[in-house]
Amino acid sequence: MDQPDANKLSINTATLRAQWKLEQIIDGCARHAIRGISPWRDQVQALGLQETARRLRSHDLTVTGYCRGGMFPGATPQDRQERAADNRRAVDEALELNAACLVLVVGGLPAGSKDLAGARQQVRDGLSALLEYARPLGMPLAIEPLHPMYAADRACVNTLAQANTLCDELGDDGLGIAVDLYHTWWDPQFLPEVARAGRQRILAFHICDWLVPTRDLLMDRGMMGDGVIDIRGCRQAVEAQGYRGFHEVEIFSEHNWWKRDPDEVLLTCKARHLEHG
Ligand code: ZN
Repeated sequence: MDQPDANKLSINTATLRAQWKLEQIIDGCARHAIRGISPWRDQVQALGLQETARRLRSHDLTVTGYCRGGMFPGATPQDRQERAADNRRAVDEALELNAACLVLVVGGLPAGSKDLAGARQQVRDGLSALLEYARPLGMPLAIEPLHPMYAADRACVNTLAQANTLCDELGDDGLGIAVDLYHTWWDPQFLPEVARAGRQRILAFHICDWLVPTRDLLMDRGMMGDGVIDIRGCRQAVEAQGYRGFHEVEIFSEHNWWKRDPDEVLLTCKARHLEHG
């Protein structure tokens, strides 16, 4: 069995957001010798951007991604401009935190709209404009395809193939994909699309498990090993392309992991990463 490199474990801070503030999560990762972290914007705002950067540096933590930008489609031009400005600020913050990439959840249908093709066009346009800003600054943008159940309200890029096509169209420079297994494990084109993405495009790798049954579409993600995803097989497929980045645990779990002792959660993440990652 090819175990994962324990040093490649990263914690997406949503995993502990119910129990701990960001400063406690940073300290917790350091205490448990976890080397990677991926913070969310609201948590960074609460702690302060400079203070977050200082604490991350003092523990020598690798910021494997910054969550998140995107949400490109808007009902009006003004709405879209405000979203674009906010995305540029997210790029600036990601730079300040020395993040490996800015993760993009691209957005779904604008309020009242049934025009899915139009929403996807708005995503392409918004992404293209953000790339013009992020490219010269050297902050890579990572498109995260989300499971199709989120097409209406969170992301109308739903497959690795769609993300790959956006990279084809907009150019690979500074653009890539965040492969999150919760969203992509079911895809019959997972392996060929991971191969199509290749080493250059895979900017982040997010892991958790798919529970059967799933009780909540958003807040019932499973710990690695508790569900049906072949996490190890998928990780090996990504690493076979040359990916050498972190394995980021991202678990939203209102009924289970968010209710547990956070040190226990981190210990469990470490053990399950080795066992199933
Ligand atoms: Zn993710």
